[in-house]
Amino acid sequence: MEQKGRGVGLVLFPCPLQGHINPMLQLASILYSNGFSIIIIHTQFNSPKSSNYPHFTFIPIPDGISDVLDSISDGFAFLSFFNVNRAVPLRDCLLRLLSDGAKEAERIACIISDSVMHFTQGVADSLKLPRLALRVSSTASFLAFTAFPVLRLKGYRPVSDSELETEVSELPPLRVKDLPAYNMDNIEKECQFVGSMVNHVKPSSGVILNTFHHLEESELAKFGQEVPIPIFTIGPFHKLFPASSSSLLSQDRSCITWLDTQPPNSVIYVSFGSVASMDEAEFVEIAWGLANSECPFLWVVRSGLVHGSDRIEPVWPDGLLELMISGGKGCIVKWAPQQEVLAHPAVGGFWTHNGWNSTLESICEGVPMLCRPCFGDQKVIARYVSHVWRVGLHLEINRLEGGEIVRNIRRLMDEKEGEEMRERVASLKEKAEVCVRKGGSSYESLQDLIARILSF
Ligand code: UDP
Repeated sequence: MEQKGRGVGLVLFPCPLQGHINPMLQLASILYSNGFSIIIIHTQFNSPKSSNYPHFTFIPIPDGISDVLDSISDGFAFLSFFNVNRAVPLRDCLLRLLSDGAKEAERIACIISDSVMHFTQGVADSLKLPRLALRVSSTASFLAFTAFPVLRLKGYRPVSDSELETEVSELPPLRVKDLPAYNMDNIEKECQFVGSMVNHVKPSSGVILNTFHHLEESELAKFGQEVPIPIFTIGPFHKLFPASSSSLLSQDRSCITWLDTQPPNSVIYVSFGSVASMDEAEFVEIAWGLANSECPFLWVVRSGLVHGSDRIEPVWPDGLLELMISGGKGCIVKWAPQQEVLAHPAVGGFWTHNGWNSTLESICEGVPMLCRPCFGDQKVIARYVSHVWRVGLHLEINRLEGGEIVRNIRRLMDEKEGEEMRERVASLKEKAEVCVRKGGSSYESLQDLIARILSF
Protein backbone atom coordinates (compact mmCIF):
# COMPACT_ATOMS: atom_id res chain seq x y z
CA MET A 1 0.00 0.00 0.00
CA GLU A 2 1.20 3.52 -0.86
CA GLN A 3 1.84 5.71 2.19
CA LYS A 4 1.37 9.20 0.77
CA GLY A 5 -1.79 9.88 2.76
CA ARG A 6 -0.54 8.47 6.06
CA GLY A 7 -1.80 10.34 9.10
CA VAL A 8 -4.47 12.12 7.07
CA GLY A 9 -8.15 11.31 7.51
CA LEU A 10 -10.84 11.81 4.87
CA VAL A 11 -14.57 11.97 5.48
CA LEU A 12 -16.71 10.63 2.65
CA PHE A 13 -20.47 11.15 2.48
CA PRO A 14 -22.30 9.12 -0.20
CA CYS A 15 -25.80 9.65 -1.52
CA PRO A 16 -27.74 6.57 -0.35
CA LEU A 17 -28.54 5.03 -3.74
CA GLN A 18 -26.77 2.01 -5.20
CA GLY A 19 -25.47 3.84 -8.28
CA HIS A 20 -23.96 6.53 -6.01
CA ILE A 21 -22.72 4.29 -3.18
CA ASN A 22 -20.67 2.10 -5.55
CA PRO A 23 -18.43 4.85 -6.96
CA MET A 24 -18.06 6.56 -3.55
CA LEU A 25 -16.86 3.36 -1.92
CA GLN A 26 -14.61 2.60 -4.88
CA LEU A 27 -13.12 6.06 -4.47
CA ALA A 28 -12.72 5.39 -0.73
CA SER A 29 -10.81 2.19 -1.52
CA ILE A 30 -8.59 4.00 -4.04
CA LEU A 31 -7.72 6.66 -1.46
CA TYR A 32 -7.25 4.11 1.31
CA SER A 33 -4.77 2.24 -0.89
CA ASN A 34 -2.81 5.50 -1.02
CA GLY A 35 -2.52 5.59 2.74
CA PHE A 36 -5.43 7.85 3.78
CA SER A 37 -7.69 6.87 6.68
CA ILE A 38 -11.31 6.66 5.63
CA ILE A 39 -14.39 7.69 7.58
CA ILE A 40 -17.72 7.08 5.88
CA ILE A 41 -20.63 9.10 7.24
CA HIS A 42 -23.82 7.57 5.92
CA THR A 43 -27.56 7.62 6.31
CA GLN A 44 -29.28 4.70 8.05
CA PHE A 45 -31.35 4.20 4.94
CA ASN A 46 -29.43 2.00 2.44
CA SER A 47 -26.45 1.96 4.76
CA PRO A 48 -23.35 0.37 3.19
CA LYS A 49 -22.20 -3.05 4.42
CA SER A 50 -19.51 -1.98 6.85
CA SER A 51 -18.35 -5.58 7.40
CA ASN A 52 -17.01 -5.59 3.81
CA TYR A 53 -14.70 -2.69 4.71
CA PRO A 54 -13.11 -3.57 8.07
CA HIS A 55 -10.41 -0.91 7.59
CA PHE A 56 -12.90 2.01 7.26
CA THR A 57 -14.77 3.76 10.08
CA PHE A 58 -18.52 3.96 9.46
CA ILE A 59 -20.68 6.52 11.26
CA PRO A 60 -24.45 6.52 10.72
CA ILE A 61 -26.44 9.73 11.03
CA PRO A 62 -30.22 9.76 11.55
CA ASP A 63 -32.03 10.42 8.29
CA GLY A 64 -35.75 10.46 9.09
CA ILE A 65 -36.54 9.06 5.66
CA SER A 66 -38.42 5.96 6.82
CA ASP A 67 -41.25 8.18 8.17
CA VAL A 68 -41.82 9.78 4.78
CA LEU A 69 -40.66 7.10 2.33
CA ASP A 70 -44.19 6.17 1.24
CA SER A 71 -44.93 9.74 0.21
CA ILE A 72 -41.76 10.06 -1.87
CA SER A 73 -42.78 9.51 -5.45
CA ASP A 74 -39.50 9.63 -7.38
CA GLY A 75 -35.72 9.87 -7.17
CA PHE A 76 -35.87 13.63 -7.45
CA ALA A 77 -38.14 13.96 -4.38
CA PHE A 78 -35.82 11.54 -2.60
CA LEU A 79 -32.73 13.68 -3.26
CA SER A 80 -34.57 16.87 -2.35
CA PHE A 81 -35.56 15.36 1.01
CA PHE A 82 -31.93 14.80 2.01
CA ASN A 83 -30.83 18.22 0.85
CA VAL A 84 -33.50 19.96 2.88
CA ASN A 85 -33.27 17.89 6.06
CA ARG A 86 -29.81 16.58 6.72
CA ALA A 87 -27.57 19.60 7.33
CA VAL A 88 -27.86 19.57 11.14
CA PRO A 89 -27.04 15.87 11.76
CA LEU A 90 -24.14 16.01 9.29
CA ARG A 91 -22.75 19.18 10.85
CA ASP A 92 -23.02 17.75 14.38
CA CYS A 93 -21.26 14.60 13.32
CA LEU A 94 -18.45 16.51 11.58
CA LEU A 95 -18.02 18.80 14.58
CA ARG A 96 -17.53 15.78 16.83
CA LEU A 97 -15.05 14.26 14.41
CA LEU A 98 -13.06 17.44 14.03
CA SER A 99 -12.67 17.83 17.78
CA ASP A 100 -11.83 14.10 18.24
CA GLY A 101 -9.38 14.28 15.32
CA ALA A 102 -7.55 17.13 17.01
CA LYS A 103 -7.16 14.94 20.12
CA GLU A 104 -6.00 11.90 18.15
CA ALA A 105 -3.40 13.83 16.17
CA GLU A 106 -4.86 12.63 12.87
CA ARG A 107 -6.03 15.62 10.97
CA ILE A 108 -9.13 15.47 8.82
CA ALA A 109 -8.17 17.06 5.54
CA CYS A 110 -11.54 17.39 3.81
CA ILE A 111 -14.98 15.99 3.13
CA ILE A 112 -15.73 14.32 -0.17
CA SER A 113 -19.45 14.34 -0.87
CA ASP A 114 -21.67 13.43 -3.78
CA SER A 115 -22.49 16.42 -5.97
CA VAL A 116 -26.23 15.71 -5.63
CA MET A 117 -25.90 16.22 -1.86
CA HIS A 118 -25.37 19.92 -2.51
CA PHE A 119 -26.19 21.00 1.06
CA THR A 120 -22.83 19.57 2.13
CA GLN A 121 -21.02 22.60 0.65
CA GLY A 122 -22.73 24.93 3.15
CA VAL A 123 -22.00 22.53 6.03
CA ALA A 124 -18.32 22.28 5.01
CA ASP A 125 -18.05 26.07 4.63
CA SER A 126 -19.53 26.63 8.08
CA LEU A 127 -16.78 24.43 9.55
CA LYS A 128 -14.06 25.81 7.28
CA LEU A 129 -13.49 22.28 6.03
CA PRO A 130 -12.56 21.93 2.34
CA ARG A 131 -15.08 19.96 0.30
CA LEU A 132 -14.38 17.95 -2.83
CA ALA A 133 -17.44 17.09 -4.90
CA LEU A 134 -17.76 13.66 -6.48
CA ARG A 135 -19.70 13.52 -9.75
CA VAL A 136 -20.86 9.95 -10.27
CA SER A 137 -22.20 10.45 -13.78
CA SER A 138 -20.82 11.50 -17.16
CA THR A 139 -19.25 14.88 -17.84
CA ALA A 140 -21.70 15.41 -20.69
CA SER A 141 -24.66 15.08 -18.34
CA PHE A 142 -23.21 17.67 -15.97
CA LEU A 143 -22.77 20.05 -18.92
CA ALA A 144 -26.45 19.53 -19.70
CA PHE A 145 -27.26 20.54 -16.11
CA THR A 146 -25.14 23.67 -16.34
CA ALA A 147 -27.10 24.65 -19.46
CA PHE A 148 -30.51 24.37 -17.75
CA PRO A 149 -31.08 28.15 -17.33
CA VAL A 150 -30.41 28.76 -21.04
CA LEU A 151 -32.51 25.78 -22.05
CA ARG A 152 -35.34 27.10 -19.95
CA LEU A 153 -35.14 30.52 -21.61
CA LYS A 154 -35.28 28.80 -24.98
CA GLY A 155 -38.51 27.08 -23.93
CA TYR A 156 -37.06 23.57 -23.69
CA ARG A 157 -38.24 23.13 -20.08
CA PRO A 158 -41.09 22.15 -20.11
CA VAL A 159 -41.04 20.98 -23.66
CA SER A 160 -43.72 20.59 -26.29
CA ASP A 161 -43.98 17.38 -28.34
CA SER A 162 -43.18 19.28 -31.54
CA GLU A 163 -39.71 20.17 -30.24
CA LEU A 164 -38.58 16.74 -29.09
CA GLU A 165 -36.43 16.09 -32.17
CA THR A 166 -34.90 19.61 -32.21
CA GLU A 167 -31.11 19.64 -31.92
CA VAL A 168 -29.88 21.54 -28.83
CA SER A 169 -27.26 23.80 -30.40
CA GLU A 170 -25.46 24.36 -27.06
CA LEU A 171 -25.08 20.63 -26.43
CA PRO A 172 -24.43 18.68 -29.62
CA PRO A 173 -25.36 15.90 -30.36
CA LEU A 174 -28.23 16.10 -27.86
CA ARG A 175 -31.78 16.64 -29.02
CA VAL A 176 -34.41 18.16 -26.77
CA LYS A 177 -35.67 14.68 -25.94
CA ASP A 178 -32.21 13.63 -24.73
CA LEU A 179 -32.03 16.33 -22.06
CA PRO A 180 -31.97 15.04 -18.49
CA ALA A 181 -35.42 14.96 -16.93
CA TYR A 182 -36.38 14.22 -13.34
CA ASN A 183 -39.71 15.81 -12.65
CA MET A 184 -41.61 17.16 -15.62
CA ASP A 185 -44.63 17.86 -13.40
CA ASN A 186 -42.70 20.43 -11.43
CA ILE A 187 -40.18 22.14 -13.70
CA GLU A 188 -39.68 24.97 -11.23
CA LYS A 189 -38.48 22.58 -8.50
CA GLU A 190 -36.45 20.53 -10.94
CA CYS A 191 -34.59 23.62 -12.18
CA GLN A 192 -34.02 24.77 -8.62
CA PHE A 193 -32.53 21.43 -7.64
CA VAL A 194 -30.27 21.23 -10.68
CA GLY A 195 -29.23 24.86 -10.19
CA SER A 196 -28.33 24.22 -6.53
CA MET A 197 -26.30 21.17 -7.46
CA VAL A 198 -24.31 23.07 -10.11
CA ASN A 199 -23.91 26.19 -7.98
CA HIS A 200 -22.60 24.19 -5.03
CA VAL A 201 -20.00 22.37 -7.12
CA LYS A 202 -18.54 25.67 -8.31
CA PRO A 203 -17.33 26.90 -4.85
CA SER A 204 -15.98 23.47 -3.88
CA SER A 205 -12.26 22.84 -3.60
CA GLY A 206 -12.32 20.54 -6.60
CA VAL A 207 -14.43 17.98 -8.41
CA ILE A 208 -13.65 14.31 -8.89
CA LEU A 209 -15.02 12.68 -12.03
CA ASN A 210 -15.55 8.97 -12.65
CA THR A 211 -14.70 9.11 -16.33
CA PHE A 212 -11.57 9.03 -18.46
CA HIS A 213 -9.97 11.51 -20.79
CA HIS A 214 -10.18 9.58 -23.98
CA LEU A 215 -13.92 9.02 -23.56
CA GLU A 216 -15.01 12.61 -22.93
CA GLU A 217 -12.12 14.77 -24.07
CA SER A 218 -14.07 17.69 -25.53
CA GLU A 219 -16.70 17.57 -22.76
CA LEU A 220 -13.94 17.75 -20.15
CA ALA A 221 -12.48 20.80 -21.88
CA LYS A 222 -15.91 22.50 -21.80
CA PHE A 223 -16.38 21.46 -18.20
CA GLY A 224 -13.09 23.19 -17.33
CA GLN A 225 -14.44 26.42 -18.83
CA GLU A 226 -17.84 26.16 -17.11
CA VAL A 227 -16.49 25.14 -13.72
CA PRO A 228 -13.09 26.78 -13.21
CA ILE A 229 -11.95 24.73 -10.23
CA PRO A 230 -9.47 21.82 -10.03
CA ILE A 231 -10.85 18.80 -11.87
CA PHE A 232 -9.67 15.27 -11.19
CA THR A 233 -10.58 12.80 -13.91
CA ILE A 234 -9.54 9.52 -12.35
CA GLY A 235 -12.00 6.90 -13.67
CA PRO A 236 -13.13 4.34 -14.36
CA PHE A 237 -13.00 3.68 -10.62
CA HIS A 238 -14.13 0.09 -10.95
CA LYS A 239 -11.01 -0.77 -12.96
CA LEU A 240 -9.16 -0.26 -9.67
CA PHE A 241 -11.76 -1.58 -7.20
CA PRO A 242 -14.86 -3.64 -8.13
CA ALA A 243 -18.36 -2.71 -6.96
CA SER A 244 -19.33 -6.12 -5.58
CA SER A 245 -18.50 -5.33 -1.93
CA SER A 246 -20.74 -2.24 -1.94
CA SER A 247 -23.75 -4.06 -3.34
CA LEU A 248 -26.79 -3.43 -1.16
CA LEU A 249 -28.55 -6.55 -2.42
CA SER A 250 -27.05 -9.99 -2.34
CA GLN A 251 -25.75 -11.00 -5.75
CA ASP A 252 -27.03 -14.32 -7.08
CA ARG A 253 -23.95 -16.12 -8.35
CA SER A 254 -25.91 -19.03 -9.87
CA CYS A 255 -26.06 -16.98 -13.09
CA ILE A 256 -22.28 -17.32 -13.49
CA THR A 257 -22.64 -21.11 -13.44
CA TRP A 258 -25.38 -20.77 -16.07
CA LEU A 259 -23.19 -18.44 -18.19
CA ASP A 260 -20.41 -21.06 -18.04
CA THR A 261 -22.68 -23.36 -20.12
CA GLN A 262 -23.24 -20.81 -22.92
CA PRO A 263 -21.12 -20.26 -26.07
CA PRO A 264 -18.90 -17.13 -26.33
CA ASN A 265 -20.65 -13.83 -27.14
CA SER A 266 -24.05 -15.54 -27.33
CA VAL A 267 -25.91 -14.14 -24.29
CA ILE A 268 -27.68 -10.81 -23.96
CA TYR A 269 -27.54 -9.51 -20.40
CA VAL A 270 -30.58 -7.41 -19.46
CA SER A 271 -30.64 -5.11 -16.44
CA PHE A 272 -32.16 -1.74 -15.70
CA GLY A 273 -30.14 -0.94 -12.59
CA SER A 274 -31.31 -0.32 -9.06
CA VAL A 275 -33.95 2.40 -9.43
CA ALA A 276 -35.62 2.41 -12.87
CA SER A 277 -39.04 0.85 -13.15
CA MET A 278 -41.61 0.19 -15.87
CA ASP A 279 -45.31 -0.50 -16.19
CA GLU A 280 -46.64 -4.04 -16.29
CA ALA A 281 -47.42 -3.93 -20.02
CA GLU A 282 -43.82 -3.00 -20.87
CA PHE A 283 -42.48 -5.69 -18.55
CA VAL A 284 -44.60 -8.32 -20.30
CA GLU A 285 -43.49 -7.12 -23.79
CA ILE A 286 -39.84 -7.40 -22.74
CA ALA A 287 -40.50 -10.90 -21.43
CA TRP A 288 -42.16 -11.95 -24.73
CA GLY A 289 -39.42 -10.29 -26.76
CA LEU A 290 -36.73 -12.19 -24.87
CA ALA A 291 -38.70 -15.45 -25.03
CA ASN A 292 -39.08 -15.12 -28.82
CA SER A 293 -35.62 -13.81 -29.61
CA GLU A 294 -33.87 -17.18 -29.89
CA CYS A 295 -30.99 -15.51 -28.10
CA PRO A 296 -29.94 -16.83 -24.67
CA PHE A 297 -30.53 -14.14 -22.06
CA LEU A 298 -29.73 -13.32 -18.47
CA TRP A 299 -32.34 -10.93 -17.04
CA VAL A 300 -32.19 -9.13 -13.69
CA VAL A 301 -35.76 -8.84 -12.42
CA ARG A 302 -35.34 -7.11 -9.09
CA SER A 303 -38.11 -6.28 -6.63
CA GLY A 304 -39.65 -2.98 -7.62
CA LEU A 305 -38.82 -3.32 -11.35
CA VAL A 306 -42.53 -3.09 -12.16
CA HIS A 307 -44.36 0.05 -10.96
CA GLY A 308 -46.43 -0.62 -7.90
CA SER A 309 -44.46 -3.76 -7.00
CA ASP A 310 -42.02 -1.93 -4.74
CA ARG A 311 -40.17 -4.43 -2.60
CA ILE A 312 -42.30 -7.30 -3.94
CA GLU A 313 -41.87 -9.55 -6.93
CA PRO A 314 -43.58 -8.73 -10.24
CA VAL A 315 -46.57 -10.89 -11.14
CA TRP A 316 -45.84 -13.02 -14.23
CA PRO A 317 -48.65 -13.81 -16.66
CA ASP A 318 -49.62 -17.52 -16.55
CA GLY A 319 -46.91 -19.79 -17.95
CA LEU A 320 -44.63 -17.00 -19.25
CA LEU A 321 -41.86 -17.43 -16.68
CA GLU A 322 -41.75 -21.20 -17.30
CA LEU A 323 -41.63 -20.60 -21.08
CA MET A 324 -38.74 -18.18 -20.70
CA ILE A 325 -36.49 -20.45 -18.72
CA SER A 326 -37.53 -23.79 -20.25
CA GLY A 327 -34.63 -25.80 -21.69
CA GLY A 328 -32.11 -23.50 -19.99
CA LYS A 329 -32.58 -20.82 -22.70
CA GLY A 330 -32.83 -18.00 -20.23
CA CYS A 331 -31.74 -17.27 -16.70
CA ILE A 332 -33.57 -14.82 -14.42
CA VAL A 333 -32.12 -13.55 -11.16
CA LYS A 334 -33.10 -10.84 -8.68
CA TRP A 335 -29.64 -9.25 -8.61
CA ALA A 336 -26.45 -10.26 -10.40
CA PRO A 337 -22.72 -9.81 -9.85
CA GLN A 338 -22.86 -7.38 -12.77
CA GLN A 339 -19.19 -6.67 -13.32
CA GLU A 340 -18.42 -10.37 -13.38
CA VAL A 341 -21.35 -11.00 -15.72
CA LEU A 342 -20.15 -8.36 -18.18
CA ALA A 343 -16.62 -9.77 -18.04
CA HIS A 344 -17.87 -13.30 -18.80
CA PRO A 345 -16.92 -14.51 -22.31
CA ALA A 346 -20.49 -15.75 -22.94
CA VAL A 347 -21.94 -12.23 -22.72
CA GLY A 348 -22.15 -10.54 -26.12
CA GLY A 349 -24.54 -7.65 -25.46
CA PHE A 350 -26.04 -5.59 -22.63
CA TRP A 351 -29.59 -4.25 -22.73
CA THR A 352 -29.24 -1.41 -20.25
CA HIS A 353 -30.98 1.70 -18.90
CA ASN A 354 -27.59 3.48 -19.28
CA GLY A 355 -26.93 4.33 -15.67
CA TRP A 356 -23.39 5.70 -15.74
CA ASN A 357 -21.88 2.81 -13.74
CA SER A 358 -23.50 0.21 -15.98
CA THR A 359 -22.36 2.07 -19.09
CA LEU A 360 -18.75 2.36 -17.89
CA GLU A 361 -18.75 -1.28 -16.77
CA SER A 362 -20.00 -2.34 -20.21
CA ILE A 363 -17.40 -0.22 -22.02
CA CYS A 364 -14.62 -1.57 -19.82
CA GLU A 365 -15.58 -5.16 -20.66
CA GLY A 366 -15.97 -4.44 -24.37
CA VAL A 367 -19.71 -5.24 -24.43
CA PRO A 368 -21.92 -3.33 -26.93
CA MET A 369 -25.26 -2.05 -25.67
CA LEU A 370 -28.96 -1.88 -26.42
CA CYS A 371 -29.98 1.41 -24.81
CA ARG A 372 -33.32 2.02 -23.15
CA PRO A 373 -32.82 5.04 -20.87
CA CYS A 374 -35.56 5.77 -18.35
CA PHE A 375 -34.95 9.13 -16.70
CA GLY A 376 -32.43 11.74 -15.63
CA ASP A 377 -28.93 11.63 -17.08
CA GLN A 378 -29.55 8.20 -18.66
CA LYS A 379 -30.92 9.85 -21.81
CA VAL A 380 -27.77 11.91 -22.29
CA ILE A 381 -25.62 8.83 -21.79
CA ALA A 382 -27.68 6.75 -24.24
CA ARG A 383 -27.23 9.43 -26.90
CA TYR A 384 -23.46 9.38 -26.39
CA VAL A 385 -23.36 5.57 -26.48
CA SER A 386 -25.30 5.42 -29.76
CA HIS A 387 -24.16 8.60 -31.55
CA VAL A 388 -20.75 9.63 -30.23
CA TRP A 389 -18.97 6.42 -29.25
CA ARG A 390 -21.26 4.34 -31.52
CA VAL A 391 -21.10 1.30 -29.29
CA GLY A 392 -24.84 0.77 -28.85
CA LEU A 393 -28.29 0.88 -30.44
CA HIS A 394 -30.79 3.32 -28.97
CA LEU A 395 -34.24 1.72 -28.61
CA GLU A 396 -36.24 4.86 -29.30
CA ILE A 397 -39.65 3.27 -29.72
CA ASN A 398 -42.30 4.94 -27.58
CA ARG A 399 -44.03 1.75 -26.51
CA LEU A 400 -41.85 -1.34 -26.49
CA GLU A 401 -43.32 -4.17 -28.48
CA GLY A 402 -42.13 -7.81 -28.61
CA GLY A 403 -41.45 -7.85 -32.40
CA GLU A 404 -39.28 -4.71 -32.27
CA ILE A 405 -37.36 -6.14 -29.35
CA VAL A 406 -36.57 -9.33 -31.26
CA ARG A 407 -35.43 -7.30 -34.31
CA ASN A 408 -33.12 -5.08 -32.27
CA ILE A 409 -31.62 -7.95 -30.28
CA ARG A 410 -30.73 -9.57 -33.62
CA ARG A 411 -29.17 -6.34 -34.92
CA LEU A 412 -26.97 -6.16 -31.84
CA MET A 413 -26.09 -9.82 -31.41
CA ASP A 414 -26.03 -11.28 -34.94
CA GLU A 415 -25.67 -8.56 -37.56
CA LYS A 416 -22.75 -6.65 -39.00
CA GLU A 417 -23.64 -3.37 -37.25
CA GLY A 418 -23.48 -5.17 -33.88
CA GLU A 419 -20.11 -6.63 -34.86
CA GLU A 420 -18.81 -3.13 -35.71
CA MET A 421 -20.00 -1.83 -32.36
CA ARG A 422 -18.19 -4.71 -30.66
CA GLU A 423 -14.97 -3.68 -32.40
CA ARG A 424 -15.37 -0.03 -31.40
CA VAL A 425 -16.14 -0.85 -27.77
CA ALA A 426 -13.13 -3.21 -27.65
CA SER A 427 -10.97 -0.26 -28.62
CA LEU A 428 -12.50 1.93 -25.86
CA LYS A 429 -11.88 -0.90 -23.40
CA GLU A 430 -8.17 -0.80 -24.27
CA LYS A 431 -8.08 2.99 -23.88
CA ALA A 432 -9.66 2.70 -20.40
CA GLU A 433 -7.00 0.20 -19.41
CA VAL A 434 -4.22 2.51 -20.56
CA CYS A 435 -5.72 5.50 -18.68
CA VAL A 436 -5.58 3.85 -15.26
CA ARG A 437 -2.07 2.40 -15.72
CA LYS A 438 1.01 4.22 -14.41
CA GLY A 439 1.59 7.19 -16.71
CA GLY A 440 -2.02 7.14 -18.00
CA SER A 441 -4.24 10.23 -17.71
CA SER A 442 -6.39 8.89 -14.84
CA TYR A 443 -3.33 7.67 -12.96
CA GLU A 444 -1.69 11.08 -13.27
CA SER A 445 -4.86 12.88 -12.27
CA LEU A 446 -5.08 10.68 -9.17
CA GLN A 447 -1.58 11.81 -8.19
CA ASP A 448 -2.80 15.41 -8.59
CA LEU A 449 -5.81 14.67 -6.41
CA ILE A 450 -3.60 13.21 -3.68
CA ALA A 451 -1.34 16.28 -3.83
CA ARG A 452 -4.40 18.54 -3.64
CA ILE A 453 -5.74 16.74 -0.56
CA LEU A 454 -2.35 16.90 1.13
CA SER A 455 -2.22 20.64 0.47
CA PHE A 456 -5.38 21.29 2.56
N1 UDP B 1 -25.64 -3.84 -10.30
C1 UDP B 1 -25.35 -5.04 -9.71
N2 UDP B 1 -26.20 -6.10 -9.97
C2 UDP B 1 -27.28 -6.00 -10.77
C3 UDP B 1 -27.55 -4.75 -11.38
C4 UDP B 1 -26.71 -3.69 -11.12
O1 UDP B 1 -24.37 -5.19 -8.97
O2 UDP B 1 -27.98 -7.00 -10.93
C5 UDP B 1 -24.73 -2.70 -10.03
C6 UDP B 1 -24.00 -2.29 -11.29
O3 UDP B 1 -22.81 -3.05 -11.45
C7 UDP B 1 -23.76 -0.81 -11.06
C8 UDP B 1 -24.90 -0.38 -10.14
O4 UDP B 1 -25.48 -1.58 -9.63
O5 UDP B 1 -22.51 -0.61 -10.43
C9 UDP B 1 -25.99 0.38 -10.87
O6 UDP B 1 -25.55 1.68 -11.13
P1 UDP B 1 -26.00 2.47 -12.43
O7 UDP B 1 -25.35 3.80 -12.37
O8 UDP B 1 -25.72 1.68 -13.64
O9 UDP B 1 -27.56 2.57 -12.34
P2 UDP B 1 -28.59 3.03 -11.19
O10 UDP B 1 -28.86 1.82 -10.37
O11 UDP B 1 -27.95 4.14 -10.42
O12 UDP B 1 -29.78 3.48 -11.97
